[in-house]
Amino acid sequence: MNNYLLPIAAVILGGLSILIWKPKELRSVKLLLAFSGAFLLGTTLTSLLPSVFANGNEHTSYWILAGIIIQILLEQLSKGAEHGHIHTSNNRIPLTLLGGLYLHAFIEGFPIHQHNDLLWAIVIHKLPIAMLLTLAIWQTNFNFSKKVMILIGFAIMTPLGSYLNFYTPILQPYSVHITALVVGVLLHISTTILFESTENHKFNISKLLVIVIGIGLSILKH
Ligand SMILES: [Zn+2]
Ligand SMILES: [Zn+2]
Repeated sequence: MNNYLLPIAAVILGGLSILIWKPKELRSVKLLLAFSGAFLLGTTLTSLLPSVFANGNEHTSYWILAGIIIQILLEQLSKGAEHGHIHTSNNRIPLTLLGGLYLHAFIEGFPIHQHNDLLWAIVIHKLPIAMLLTLAIWQTNFNFSKKVMILIGFAIMTPLGSYLNFYTPILQPYSVHITALVVGVLLHISTTILFESTENHKFNISKLLVIVIGIGLSILKH
């Protein structure tokens, strides 16, 4: 049950924290984003990657590459919303942005039942994204129920992916392939988060610190 509830809880927590706290500047959200990227990268490399190669075959690498391509395609739609780049144009949120963001969240939910480490990495990854998404939604002139609906849609995407993967028998034989695909998606997104977290390549000790802590914790947890 936690596999479904925790990703939803992360979005609720992220959304509420923004609405209650109303931050003027995004320094701490950006730090949390850098931490989440580091934790996600650490989990992908120390937990998921060894497991897909241990259980997979010589084709595993191709599935990882396919995942990287899929994430590149999704970013064309979302313009990077799933790694914390959310731009609202004319106080609107384009449908393509939501489509890319939702699909990404849906795909990353697939292997959660088989990988408990991934659950926590996804929960931590969702928190800052939900915060930034909430900020963007509340800048639009959508009415309240539409704003909440967009957030609910985002919140249920990952559990929906986990559910579908678990209860679709024809997918079972492909579980290693699916996980390898998600490894590609996560490798791309986590490295993008880390890459974009160093603005203009300026030295930033607090960001460096949260990244080292994020990687360290992902190793400890594993
Ligand atoms: Zn970006
Ligand atoms: Zn993601």
